[in-house]
Amino acid sequence: MNDLKFEMAPETEPERQYFFIEQGAVLRKQKEEELKHPLTYHVTTFGCQMNAKDSEKMKGILNEMGFINCDDEKSADLVLFNTCTIRDNANQKFYGHLGSLNDKNHRNKDRITAVCGCMMQEKGCVEKIRNSYKFVNIIFGTHNIYKLAELVCLKLAGENFVCDVWDKPKDIVEDIPSIRKYPFKAGVNIMYGCNNYCTYCIVPYVRGAERSREAKEILMECEKLASEGVKEIMLLGQNVNSYGNGIKDSISFPELLKEVEKIEGIERIRFMTSHPKDLSDELITVMKGSNKICRHIHLPLQSGSSRILKAMNRRYSKEQYLELALKIRKELPDTAITTDIIVGFPGETPEDVDETIDVIKKVRFDGAFTFIYSKRAGTPAASMEQVDPELVKKEFNRVLEAVNKESKEMAALNTGKTEDVLVDDINEQDERLLTGRMSNNMTVHFPGERSLIGKIVNVRLEECKGFYYVGSMV
Ligand code: SF4
Repeated sequence: MNDLKFEMAPETEPERQYFFIEQGAVLRKQKEEELKHPLTYHVTTFGCQMNAKDSEKMKGILNEMGFINCDDEKSADLVLFNTCTIRDNANQKFYGHLGSLNDKNHRNKDRITAVCGCMMQEKGCVEKIRNSYKFVNIIFGTHNIYKLAELVCLKLAGENFVCDVWDKPKDIVEDIPSIRKYPFKAGVNIMYGCNNYCTYCIVPYVRGAERSREAKEILMECEKLASEGVKEIMLLGQNVNSYGNGIKDSISFPELLKEVEKIEGIERIRFMTSHPKDLSDELITVMKGSNKICRHIHLPLQSGSSRILKAMNRRYSKEQYLELALKIRKELPDTAITTDIIVGFPGETPEDVDETIDVIKKVRFDGAFTFIYSKRAGTPAASMEQVDPELVKKEFNRVLEAVNKESKEMAALNTGKTEDVLVDDINEQDERLLTGRMSNNMTVHFPGERSLIGKIVNVRLEECKGFYYVGSMV
């Protein structure tokens, strides 16, 4: 272990990480000479857009260290899992990947296996990995993903096992390298963490307290992205409407949107996720006057029963949610409203689900992510009396049926119209077709040349296929 070099690492960030990126490149070359092949990396990401954004940064760091990206998880020299723990099935999926990585056909004693993300912040997970998956040699959490270069250096320099999981986040570190999936659109974090403590949710325990980035840092990043040809920006936060809380003299979220709107080259602005208790009239007014903010608001309802919303600590009632959603319907008639709904929250009865279905029918959501409640260790709801799974399944199907009926009918209302579509890619099922998204976030497939990828084109919506359109360019 050549301590000398590491000792000289700057204390301040991100300078310290750029030091380790350089050191890492030297150590990587040494390892390549030993193994007689270029070292590759593969990042597997589970969960939400926040995780996807973190993975872009970690790919950027490994790329700067000179590792080569590899599409195959099982043959890469360095495999990094960015985990999610929002529901139990996310954990099980991860363990599946990890287990198959070490089966007899894929065992590789020289492989660096790293695990990070929300699951590593959850009590007991690090110990479980250490005991059951001994081939894992780097573990870190959600608060220090920017430190990947330093952790990989320690491993390459001879440490058997590197573990660095923080209880609490520290300062936000800016200017970390990043590699985007799409050259023409990008996610931009505006804040991290959450202070809402909904009783079913593990996010505040694994992502920490709410901290907003300085507006000037966000705007500099958006300007840089625009200069690189990015047309569409997705502003990311667990609850974007509380942006700026905790920053002295900060601008509000609607004001931030107005500033991003001024940036030349940016043609579309999206944001995710809103919280009904904080979505302001000011935001609705700014959207109304905007040419660039996309016609889509994701507004999680979770339940339509005020009794359950109280038990969830959502801090709005059925009536307040309806008032807000119907105001959006009235003020922004061309804007799609999508939502999240949990079925089976402890104590929920069929009458509570009737309330949820009533909201679905009144708001007529354009789309909804419906989930069966998943008990998360350490959350208040985990110690509440759980609902019979058979009943939950029955109620879940009732909700799904109601959501699908409304969203199909809402989707079809645009048939025959011509809409702006940002072309994302070649259609996965049919190479003759392109796939893109309208401003209201609905998917459209239509014939067109590959050269149109990344461009905004006009498409006539010929036929609605339930949750997507087929169309033709005009
Ligand atoms: S707002 Fe509630 S559901 Fe959303 S991340 Fe925060 S605690 Fe979780």
